[in-house]
Amino acid sequence: MTTTSNDLITEEPRAPHVPRLTRRLTGFLPQEIKNIDTIIPLKSRNIWNKHQVKKFEDKEGFEGRFIGHVETTLARSLYNCDDLAAYESTSLSVRDNLIIDWNNTQQRITARDPKRVYYLSLEFLMGRALDNALINSQAGSDEPTSRPMVEKSLDELGFNLEDVLKKEPDAALGNGGLGRLAACFIDSMATQNIPAWGYGLRYEYGIFAQKIIDGYQVETPDYWLNFGNPWEIERNEIQVPVTFYGYVDRSDGESTTLSPSDWIGGERVLAVAYDFPVPGYKTSTVNNLRLWKAKPTTEFDFAKFNSGDYKNSVDAQQRAESITACLYPNDNFNQGKELRLKQQYFWCAASLHDIIRRFKKTSRPWSELPDQVAIQLNDTHPTLAVVELQRVLVDLEKLDWHKAWSIVTATFSYANHTVMQEALEKWPIGLFGHLLPRHLEIIYDINWFFLQEVEKKFPKDFDLLSRVSIIEECSPERQVRMAYLAIVGSHKVNGVAELHSELIKKTIFKDFVKVYGSQKFTNVTNGITPRRWLKQANPKLAELIGKALNDPKQNFLLDMPKLTELAKKADDPEFQKAWDLVKANNKLQLADLIKDTNNGVDIIDREHIKDTLFDIQVKRIHEYKRQQMNIFGVIYRYLAMKKMLKEGSTIEEVAKKYPRKASIFGGKSAPGYYMAKLIIKLINSVAEIVNDDAEIVDLLKVVFIPDYNVSKAEIIIPASDLSEHISTAGTEASGTSNMKFVMNGGLIIGTVDGANVEITREIGEDNIFLFGNLSEHVEELRYNHQYKKTELPPELAQVLKSIESGVFSPENPNEFKPLIDSIKSHGDYYLVSDDFESYVATQELVDEVYHTQKNDWIKKSILSVANIGFFSSDRCIEEYSETIWNVEPVKPET
Ligand SMILES: *Cc1c(COP(=O)(O)O)cnc(C)c1O
Repeated sequence: MTTTSNDLITEEPRAPHVPRLTRRLTGFLPQEIKNIDTIIPLKSRNIWNKHQVKKFEDKEGFEGRFIGHVETTLARSLYNCDDLAAYESTSLSVRDNLIIDWNNTQQRITARDPKRVYYLSLEFLMGRALDNALINSQAGSDEPTSRPMVEKSLDELGFNLEDVLKKEPDAALGNGGLGRLAACFIDSMATQNIPAWGYGLRYEYGIFAQKIIDGYQVETPDYWLNFGNPWEIERNEIQVPVTFYGYVDRSDGESTTLSPSDWIGGERVLAVAYDFPVPGYKTSTVNNLRLWKAKPTTEFDFAKFNSGDYKNSVDAQQRAESITACLYPNDNFNQGKELRLKQQYFWCAASLHDIIRRFKKTSRPWSELPDQVAIQLNDTHPTLAVVELQRVLVDLEKLDWHKAWSIVTATFSYANHTVMQEALEKWPIGLFGHLLPRHLEIIYDINWFFLQEVEKKFPKDFDLLSRVSIIEECSPERQVRMAYLAIVGSHKVNGVAELHSELIKKTIFKDFVKVYGSQKFTNVTNGITPRRWLKQANPKLAELIGKALNDPKQNFLLDMPKLTELAKKADDPEFQKAWDLVKANNKLQLADLIKDTNNGVDIIDREHIKDTLFDIQVKRIHEYKRQQMNIFGVIYRYLAMKKMLKEGSTIEEVAKKYPRKASIFGGKSAPGYYMAKLIIKLINSVAEIVNDDAEIVDLLKVVFIPDYNVSKAEIIIPASDLSEHISTAGTEASGTSNMKFVMNGGLIIGTVDGANVEITREIGEDNIFLFGNLSEHVEELRYNHQYKKTELPPELAQVLKSIESGVFSPENPNEFKPLIDSIKSHGDYYLVSDDFESYVATQELVDEVYHTQKNDWIKKSILSVANIGFFSSDRCIEEYSETIWNVEPVKPET
């Protein structure tokens, strides 16, 4: 094999010191088990069986493992074991159990050889693993999970589990909702025994850590692997070569782009596999999350060397590692950088190679690939996998183009996550063809055949042809439309909430509905895992629910619609009291977190925790999510309070109209997103003025919690009385934190957008505070701002005036001018002025219910939780399995 050939290496490079047996990656094939004696002699098998590694089942067993890992794996002792070492050792001990189950799961799946799912996502926002593993695993005891046993053991060993858990850094390999969705889905796939693997990238740096300095966001690198990572298994034996650049060899003259072609790659790197166990809840199934890391090849580019380009050939080697160095920190925004496309191809090529290798072991014909493999694209980021599979089938496996293409389209499905233009992925063909010359040719051919089909169905409709073309003809350069490629390359396309799935059919993909019919388009409303977002984040509420449902082992976490039984208790005063107490305790814990992030100074008045409404908006900062409207609302409230005082009202009278409230914000802005960063600064500037204003006593507090991430979300979400999901109608595809908040007994103030619509349908419109314009009116409202004179509502005019006057930025009264201009002068694209009056009025209704009808409030809270079962990600995985993937569970033997 030459160093520049791009043929996939079908045999893994074999390290000479690795014995043959351990190189079997996923166990024996069914046909091999029959003649096992000829492969592994009975004698060897007997020794192996005699020393079979067993899971720890009790405290004794755990303690043995724990101390063993402290003394040998960590090379520490009783005398120098701190919380970090205890975290590592506990993780390694729990991991041992998971690995045994992982091995059994993988062997079982290999033996039964069912259809498998591969979930391709460029982001997995996993958060911490240890607590989740303790909850999801059972170690022999009567308890539903091994957590209480390990907690007791650690206590006797001299450690506090809560402190130990805090030593784990978040695996923050994602930006927000999309990455967290992938994490919830792999939890549900394992829990439901679906034979599924996740594929992603092992970024050295996840999403940046956010610091707030003088009110401004400052990004600092998140080197999460600093102390190593006990949850990953480095698979040095699995290294896949991936090639970039180069050219397509057409020296035989006869070749057309359609016949098998030889891509002579220029740069070559290796993808090394890192595996993370994904345990299911109350099952011994442990699935796999495989993340790839880039490393240089050991081979040398002689072509470059011989042409005297020694320095560059060494540099290229060094560049390899930069491919998986960091996560791009944009949420719902496409930047179009070459390194990003490189990340995408690196990941798609390595993952597909792995998937194909596994398929090939069973010696099935290629036509059976779609019966054995379903590949799910989480957004358009993995769309290159479609092209890569076509390349492998045509160029390397020499299948006929059309035969190959029907296999490809039957294998893939695509989930769309946004309708916003700035988020849709497009790649200039110059950049694309330079990095992936053969793939660009294949895309042209895919497009050619697709457009022929369209032309057949709609003869002479040239306008339609140019509208649906995968290649966009635009100046200065043509572009590849990745969403169109994903649609053409998949058998199903889904949106992530009903409203969103309808919107994509009516707007961005309208022409594709015309071409394919509407059956190709479907909906799977997002969900969240109740294991992390109820049991782990809010153990006291899970316990209370378990008691109320007569389900102390908390089986409801596997069957969330069972929660409807809670409705019976909604009016029970005793139950309401217990419910309220759980909430009050969670609010105290959030007050602790706020104090920690505020240099130890308390902002929240603990004496009044029960009658302070915690009003929370935590999510990525984005103009479409409208944190600016929230903070304008806070300013409006503050000004109104001040006005009452000025006009002679007593503080008691003010408190009656504007009772105690804490307005809590959190979220990261993309580093290059100027307006979002300015919104963060405004929130902090308002906080500084309001929190220090002695006149309003403690009636209003404003807090920005820095560095919002999964582990902080687990503390913040259970503490909410009210959360805000107030995006401009039609912009938020689904939202998932809306579901998390409701599952924790918080009420929502929200617009008729994303999954808020279905949440309302499930929990009842009496239990949610909806306001604002509907998505069908957005176009007209925007038109009015552009072409007609529109007046600001007086409430908003007042707020903007106070900002302009410099109340919140005395040093620089112009600081927030861009935020004001976007509303007053640039067409108010996000319609803040159209929704502000109804927002403020709805907030006043919220105050009234919370402060004068508290029992009614608690009842709404209980009824909401009772009816949130639909939003378990278990339901999503059932829908995907039945309607898109066509896969079935493989249950462990009992
Ligand atoms: C759930 C979650 C999100 C998504 O929140 P939305 O409000 O739905 O955008 C973002 N970040 C983190 C850390 C989350 O847990």
